[in-house]
Amino acid sequence: MLNKKNLLGKKWAEVSKKDRQALKELITNWSVKPAGTLGWKKAEVMLGGVDTKELDGQTMMSRNHPGLFFIGECVDVTGHLGGHNFQWAWASGFACAHSI
Ligand SMILES: Cc1cc2nc3c(=O)[nH]c(=O)nc-3n(C[C@H](O)[C@H](O)[C@H](O)COP(=O)(O)OP(=O)(O)OC[C@H]3O[C@@H](n4cnc5c(N)ncnc54)[C@H](O)[C@@H]3O)c2cc1C
Repeated sequence: MLNKKNLLGKKWAEVSKKDRQALKELITNWSVKPAGTLGWKKAEVMLGGVDTKELDGQTMMSRNHPGLFFIGECVDVTGHLGGHNFQWAWASGFACAHSI
């Protein structure tokens, strides 16, 4: 866009209000569309698993099969990156162990 609008090398004071507005629109509406994934080797968390509705959230025990417990990746819980999946694995494991 800088090229198209002939803005390369220009000082900010030399940029017209219209072009500044166009730049603002460009920056604030800039979106990135992932082209693909890195595949299984780099996959960090799984979708799917045992539905949380099937489990008692206090104990992680199956409602349909008492005595059977599911925690961590076995359950259909997917966190954003940043430790949320570890947190879920540890917290659900703790709740389950505590109840047992
Ligand atoms: C490359 C990578 C990077 C990640 N980075 C992050 C991150 O930065 N932050 C984050 O929050 N999450 C991250 N995750 C996700 C996180 O590691 C998982 O969500 C979490 O470890 C799940 O814990 P879990 O105990 O449920 O399962 P797992 O950690 O997978 O543990 C399952 C265990 O069961 C064992 N096992 C499997 N089958 C059998 C069997 N038949 N008999 C006996 N043992 C068996 C396995 O060897 C394994 O030790 C990452 C995952 C990957 C793959």
